[in-house]
This record gives sequence, C-alpha cells and structure tokens, in this order.
Amino acid sequence: MVYQFEFRPYKRRFAQPLTTHHGVWHHREGIILRLIDVSGNIGWGEIAPISWFGSETLEQALDFCHQLPREITSEMIFSISDNLSACQFGFESAIAGLKSEEKELAATVLPCSGLLSAGEAALQQWQTLWQQGYRTFKWKIGVDAIATELAIFDTLCHSLPTSAKLRLDANGGLSYAQAELWLWTCDSMQAQLPIEIEFIEQPLPISEFAQMLELSISYTTAIALDESIATLQQLITCYEKGWREIFVIKPGIIGSPSRLRQFCQQHEIDAVFSSVFETAIGRQPALQLAAELSRKNRAVGFGIDHFFAQTATASPQNIWNSL
Ligand SMILES: [Mg+2]
Repeated sequence: MVYQFEFRPYKRRFAQPLTTHHGVWHHREGIILRLIDVSGNIGWGEIAPISWFGSETLEQALDFCHQLPREITSEMIFSISDNLSACQFGFESAIAGLKSEEKELAATVLPCSGLLSAGEAALQQWQTLWQQGYRTFKWKIGVDAIATELAIFDTLCHSLPTSAKLRLDANGGLSYAQAELWLWTCDSMQAQLPIEIEFIEQPLPISEFAQMLELSISYTTAIALDESIATLQQLITCYEKGWREIFVIKPGIIGSPSRLRQFCQQHEIDAVFSSVFETAIGRQPALQLAAELSRKNRAVGFGIDHFFAQTATASPQNIWNSL
C-alpha cells in the first residue's frame, strides 16, 4: 500500500512546568504526521519522543521524517528501526487509523489516574481532580528531601477519601535505602488506613534491576517498572529476567503497536498504560491499546490535561491546521 506522507512539528507549553527526578520540563515538542491512501482516506499519527526516558530524540525523529519521500509504503513503515521507537508508534498508528474508525470510542470509558505535581502542591491539586471525577492519583516523589516528602505523604494519605487509590512515582530517583523506607512506610500506611497505595513506580535507576526484583519480593506494596521498560525490547528483557509485578507501558514511545499487542496477548502481564504528554492524535491509539490489553482494570495514566495551557481534545484536523 502507498501513502502520501506529510508531517508538521509542534511545540506545546506546559501551564505548570513538570518537575520529576529527571529535571524540569517546560515544553512538549513532537511531530504530527498525516498519511493519505489511494482512496483519499486520512490516517493521523503522532511522534512524541522522550529521549531522557529512552526513546529517540526529537532531532532524530525529525531527521527520519525529512529523509522520507513524499510517497511511502507500509513496508517502509513496518521496517522502521527499533532505535526510532516513537516513530514506529506514530507511523503504525497512522496506518491503523485509516482502517479503524469504528473502534475509536472503545477507549473512552477507561478509569483515569490524575497526575499530581511533586511537593506540597499535591495537597491542593488532588481536591480539584477529585471534583473532576478522578479516583486514582499519581504523585511524583524523589524530587525533594525524603523527610519532607514522607511528611507530605502522611498528610496526603490522611486527607484522601477512603475510596481513593494512590500511586507514587520516583522516576528512578531513590537509593536502595530510601526505596526500602518508602516501601516500609507504604506497607504500614496500608495497614492503618483504608486507602489503597497501588504501587511505587520505578524506585531505582534502570541499572538496578536486580535490586528492584529483590524489593518486589520483600514488601507488600507493589513495584511498577517504567523507565526500565521504555521500549518493547527492554520490556521483553525484564520479563525474561523474571519481572512479574507491574509494567507501566507508554505506547507513545514503546515502539510498534502490533508487536506490543502480540507480546501482551502471549504473556499475561499486569500492565498500566500511561501518557507521554501527547496530543489527542497520539492519545487515541494509545488508549485503544490500553482498552485492548489492560487486564486488571487499572486506571490509565492519562489524567494530564491540567498540565497544559490548552487542552488536547481538538480534532486531528484542527490540530493539523493550527501548526
Ligand atoms: Mg513513571
């Protein structure tokens, strides 16, 4: 199959810069791509790399788009290198979008986790998100001093309604001793309070896989791998090395959706699907994968609109026209 190919770069400003253990993020930059088939059908795709998380850089993605001809084939798309995982997702989901308009609404009913900023801001922020209907929250840790964060955590756990679920995300920023302290604190909080601490995400750096495996066995509170499994190859490697707790899958950068689907159908992994701060164009196929492949009804990590000045809900054509 042959497609007419065009692409446009975009840059969206975060209303409040996103602070994680990796640093402060001010703008989300990416690429919107458009494929048109011989019958005139349009397929939209989005390339939204996060290089510090393990995908290609924006520059590498742009170089790849620039060197492609105006007419491209499915063979070219399905042979995009594994080093360009965000490109694999963007192009493959554009092809899938040409065929699957009837499936598009399947994903809209998934429960969503609202992202809380690091530090004390979370104590106010959850209340607004609760009013908007969120019942699962994710709070960034590993940013401030651990004693400060543990004190905020205590307040947060005592203020959240009993039906709330809380996830913590350290972005690989803890030492082994700090991870033990967090896990121990979560275990004892769970014993005292009715709220559910669902998991701690990526407590240690990617290089400390064996230690995370050990911690996952030693504490009741679950651990989710995120940075460790940024790409499909990394996910497969961690699975093969024995990881059986939670996998946070970011469809936007993991790579080929068809190969992800195949892996998830063959292996019953406990997956949480999560945003890469993409627009509505990348979000739709990412949520579609979540709807198909989530097994334990875990909330998806797409509650991030409040981090942007403008919402991402515009139609693909409107997003395209605005670039
Ligand atoms: Mg994470």
